[in-house]
Amino acid sequence: MTKYIFVTGGVTSSLGKGIISASLAKLLQARGYRVTIQKFDPYINIDPGTLNPYEHGECYVTEDGAETDLDLGHYERFLNVPTSQANNITTGRIYQNVINKEREGAYLGKTVQVVPHITDEIKRNMKILGESGNFDIVITELGGTVGDIESLPYVEAVRQLRWELGQNNSLVIHLTLVPYLAAAGELKTKPTQHSVKLLLEYGVQPDILVCRTEHHLSAEIRKKVALFCNVERNAVIESIDASTIYDVPLLMRKENLDGIVLKKLKLASKGEPDLESWKDFLGRLKNPTAEVKIGLVGKYVELPDAYKSINEAFIHAGAKNECKVRVKCIHSESITAENVNEKLAGLDGVLVAPGFGSRGIEGKIEAIKYIRENQIPFFGICLGMQCSVIEFGRNVLGLKDAHSTEMNPDTKNAVISMMEEQKKIKNKGGTMRLGSYACDIKKGTKAASIYGKTKIAERHRHRYEFNNAFLNQYEKAGMIASGINPENNLVEIVELKDHPYFVAVQFHPELKSTVANPHPLFVNFVAAALAHSHKK
Ligand code: GLN
Repeated sequence: MTKYIFVTGGVTSSLGKGIISASLAKLLQARGYRVTIQKFDPYINIDPGTLNPYEHGECYVTEDGAETDLDLGHYERFLNVPTSQANNITTGRIYQNVINKEREGAYLGKTVQVVPHITDEIKRNMKILGESGNFDIVITELGGTVGDIESLPYVEAVRQLRWELGQNNSLVIHLTLVPYLAAAGELKTKPTQHSVKLLLEYGVQPDILVCRTEHHLSAEIRKKVALFCNVERNAVIESIDASTIYDVPLLMRKENLDGIVLKKLKLASKGEPDLESWKDFLGRLKNPTAEVKIGLVGKYVELPDAYKSINEAFIHAGAKNECKVRVKCIHSESITAENVNEKLAGLDGVLVAPGFGSRGIEGKIEAIKYIRENQIPFFGICLGMQCSVIEFGRNVLGLKDAHSTEMNPDTKNAVISMMEEQKKIKNKGGTMRLGSYACDIKKGTKAASIYGKTKIAERHRHRYEFNNAFLNQYEKAGMIASGINPENNLVEIVELKDHPYFVAVQFHPELKSTVANPHPLFVNFVAAALAHSHKK
């Protein structure tokens, strides 16, 4: 029977429920259990696909094309197991399902209410992955903070589900904050007590408290928290600020979070978790023998979460190369023909980021022109690739008004144009070309040597594509399509022949980079940047 772990948050948001969930899952996986993590988000959007990155950070995309919360990226990076639509549910989706059923007449004339209909739909979704038979343990993270009006139906669903599952088949981990008051020189437990009291009011007794703190918790503090929150003393877990999120599994191991969880769920310990390769990764991450400086040109650079998966993929690729990757964010709107050499000075490589709309586009194109002419390693992702095609069209092929129809619908040289199947679509949500598609790589190209194979599949999120009417002209002039979708001939990878490293992709490789499997495009780009820095 599948066991269920629910992770709630108290006191404040941004305590890192996603990282704690992923770290616990990693430890349980390292003991031989099949674990997955799902996230329930209490907002009304059907998914975060329509949310601005400033609102919500990056939109993560799964193999099956779900647009999801960025925490799913952490789950995959830690566990190296793909997630799916079932791993991320929002209030919008829950209500949509219930309202659809109501219209079908499925409620047989009953009044449809939050309890039981919404809570039943939440419970049904909470059990889907467990009932698949693929997992021994399902960790369910509840977004938001206990006490929020919008979280209430989820907490109620957890209360009911725990009762239905019976003893030892589920547990609740509550993540809370133990703040340090500098003036008093003390850690304060009152916010934690209040937040647990609130949970108790809703009928949920947490089994384990994970306390976020900037200072170590003394035995006395642990005892106090345990006493006032009805938890066992060893179930008060310290989660101290870490220098990297990848340390957290080891910190949780030290606190024996996994051991306590297994005991409470009456599951066999299966011996110590096997964390050898994880430790090896951390060793390489923390002991770099070189350093490279990479520019990330994008328009959401004020918010690091907007490029979460790219930043994490650089961490994986850096460790693989035993090289510290310093990512310098450069606002694309700030780049002009006059200042581009200053803006990109001293960089060993430049990545031009994904994005939508025309803001900052000319800065991206200026940056690519400079990189191409000065033989600096280049990596373009999605809109970054489209910009490299526009730049090459304008400055090498002499097509002065080359553009994407996304920015200029009337251009005569639409080198990037809307995909045919997208033209009839009106709705914005969930309608892009999403998820995993196959790509054939041409032998003898840089892409082939990077991947070491010719058949790959990568994840997508776009509406526009390379306009194949221009392909001959591009290839003759030295920009070749080294990766093509075998079904519809869509150009997936372009590269330059006369350049040490210029590779741009229509898909999002950053979404598939994990600790166990750093993405080859990032690993090779960092290696190229390293080679460039040696040359300098
Ligand atoms: N805006 C571009 C498109 O829709 C690129 C999207 C992206 O970078 N994810 O094709």
